Amino acid sequence: MSSLRNHDIPALRQLDVAHHLPAQSSYALQQELGGSRIITHAKGCTVTDGEGHSLLDGMAGLWCVNVGYGRDELAEVAYRQMLELPYYNTFFRTATPPPVELAARLAGLLAKAHGGELQHIFFNSSGSESNDTVFRLVRTYWMLKGQGDRSVFISRHNAYHGSTVASASLGGMDFMHVQGGLPIPGIEHVMQPYPFGEGFGEDPEAFAARAAQAIEDRILAIGPEKIAAFIGEPVQGAGGVIIPPPGYWQKVEAICRKYGILLVADEVICGFGRLGSWFGFQHFGFTPDIVSMAKGLSSGYLPISATAVSREIVATLRASGEEFVHGYTYSGHPVCAAVALANLDILEREDLIGRTARDTGPYLAAAMAERLAPHPLVGEARSLGLIGAVEIVAEKGTNRRHGGGGKAGPIVRDHCIARGLMVRAIRDSIVMSPPLVITHAQIDQLVDTIAAALDDAGEALSRL
Ligand code: PMP
Repeated sequence: MSSLRNHDIPALRQLDVAHHLPAQSSYALQQELGGSRIITHAKGCTVTDGEGHSLLDGMAGLWCVNVGYGRDELAEVAYRQMLELPYYNTFFRTATPPPVELAARLAGLLAKAHGGELQHIFFNSSGSESNDTVFRLVRTYWMLKGQGDRSVFISRHNAYHGSTVASASLGGMDFMHVQGGLPIPGIEHVMQPYPFGEGFGEDPEAFAARAAQAIEDRILAIGPEKIAAFIGEPVQGAGGVIIPPPGYWQKVEAICRKYGILLVADEVICGFGRLGSWFGFQHFGFTPDIVSMAKGLSSGYLPISATAVSREIVATLRASGEEFVHGYTYSGHPVCAAVALANLDILEREDLIGRTARDTGPYLAAAMAERLAPHPLVGEARSLGLIGAVEIVAEKGTNRRHGGGGKAGPIVRDHCIARGLMVRAIRDSIVMSPPLVITHAQIDQLVDTIAAALDDAGEALSRL
């Protein structure tokens, strides 16, 4: 067995190029760079690579390590569960204790947040799988209701719902659709509620109404009796931390109710505290019929996702007597579910969500307003809870971008990394989503590093 600390990093980087295909990556760039950066260990909000560089993790891994790294109790729970029962399936009219307990625990959390309709939980291993479950479940539900014509999903351009065939189709990323002949039929994309990008200078209320109206217009164009569901992230994450204007979600909900369309909240990023509430729908004040959850459910310690569905949907499946012929080998994996339960204990015991709402979220917003918003290269610095974005522009006071079609973000990101901060570039923006255990001093470091990286990048940006 290889030692945990003394890795041969040059050899690993060579093997990485020779054999390993990382996710969502350019394999030409991987080769050009001589392999991926090998992250070897982490503690709290800091990750360390094999060459000994420590980086403040401004992304919580991939928007997921909400309780921070190095939680012994999560490792211990996994160890004990593996010894007791490492695996059993949920296919053969069987279950194991952890997923049953986790389903009840999530139903309790959702009852508090939502009012008791979302009482049933289907487990999967990833956000993508959860949204594939949504896709098949929603169409099955309408078929069993005798309304099989209701098969069309409405989503937004620049939404991210995953990378499998159905979830990438639900997503609105054109560059993903190009690969694999997506989207599959029956999915319609409408405008996103992106004030800085698509409603610049517009009254927020008028913009919210315009973005919601785009949904209703599409419903009417297709025929309301053909629409199965609307799916949306409360705040779009991978699209660039798009925070919708006030009133948008209420309007979307009213439209769904008006036409009897199911409302699906993709809470894969927003769930479990990211916005300072347990769920994003709570923050925005709407009540979905279905909720997809992943990431913060286990803080990324093990892969698990959950699809919460309303009593009405399950009552329909029960009344039909039909089997729901969907599910995965790892649906309700006992070790993942045990770790998720312990992760929820930590979120509750340390009040990490309350702390995000009252303390660290507002602290981040104030630091960004003070130290990033005035920067000459910044068009907007926005955040909600512990998720945020910095829009890089060519001309202060406008949303005009540098040339190069989205190269500004990666340039600034590379300067952030060189200065010891891991953040992500999304086209001409820098996004952040740190662990919920981040301290004030680390928030200062995060914000000050981005400001310094913008200074470093000024010259290169002016040449774009
Ligand atoms: N939905 C949302 C909102 C996401 O942000 C993501 C992942 N970033 C997914 C779904 C897909 O999750 P996974 O990568 O676990 O399949």
